[in-house]
Amino acid sequence: MPELPETELIAEKLRSAALNKRLEDIAFKGGRGNEQEEALASALARLQGCRITDVARYGTFLFLEFEEQGILSLNLAGEVDVQLQRGRLDLPEHNALLLRCQGGFQLLLSAPNLVARVRLLDEEADVDYLTKLGPDPLLDSEVATHLAPALGRRRTHVRAALMQDNLVAGIGPTWADEILFQSRIRPDRLVPELTPQERERLLKNLPKVLDRAVRCQAKPNLLPQNFLTRHRHDDQLCPICGGPLETLEGGSKGALFCPKCQV
Ligand SMILES: [Zn+2]
Repeated sequence: MPELPETELIAEKLRSAALNKRLEDIAFKGGRGNEQEEALASALARLQGCRITDVARYGTFLFLEFEEQGILSLNLAGEVDVQLQRGRLDLPEHNALLLRCQGGFQLLLSAPNLVARVRLLDEEADVDYLTKLGPDPLLDSEVATHLAPALGRRRTHVRAALMQDNLVAGIGPTWADEILFQSRIRPDRLVPELTPQERERLLKNLPKVLDRAVRCQAKPNLLPQNFLTRHRHDDQLCPICGGPLETLEGGSKGALFCPKCQV
C-alpha cells in the first residue's frame, strides 16, 4: 500500500530501469467490462511501442510520459498492489495493468476499481484532480511554511488532516502515525487544540520523517531506532519509553501511538 515515500522509491526504480526504453507490451484487465474500461483499454493500447520519455511523481501519483502519446497517470494510494521486477509476472484475470519495457523490466498494478486510478492525459485532459492536491513534502522545500495557514483552517483530528490529499499530498496511515509519534502528538487531538509549539513541531517533522523514510528505502528495519514504524509489525513496544503501543478506535481508527509519549 504505497504512500508518498514508497511511491518515490517506485519512481526512482522506474527512472533507472525504464526511462528512454520502449514499452514492449501493455495489458489492461478491467473488472466490470463496462464502456469506461473498454475506452481506457483502447487508449492504453496506443502506448505499445512508444518510448518512456519522462518519469515524474507528485504525492502518490506516478506520471509516465510517452513520446507524443501523452502522459500515463497512475494513482498508487491505498489498496494497490505494486510489483516491479524483471522476469515473469503473472497477470491477474481482473483489475490489473501490466507494462513491460524493453529489457524485460515490468510494472504490475492490481487494485479493485483500477480504472479510477489510471488515466491517459493528453493536452485536453481534465487535470482538476491534480490541481486540488496540497503541497508535496518531498518536492516543496518550504512545505512547513506553505502548510501552516491551511492546517490552521482544519477542524478534524490531526491524523485525519495529515491524510487529506488536499492539505498535503501523499500521506497515508503509516507515515501519519510516524510524523505524529516523532512530534509527540496524539493522533486524535483536534487541530484547533494544538499549541503553536506543537504545530511548529509537527510541520518541522513532517518533511523530515518522509525524507528519512525514502533514504531508508521505506524498510522498517533500516529506519532509525527511535521510529515507531520499526515496531508496528514487530513487538508493538514504544522505542522511547518501552511501554506498549496502542491502536485507536473511533475517529482515528487504526492509528498506532504511544499513550505515554504522545500527549
Ligand atoms: Zn512511549
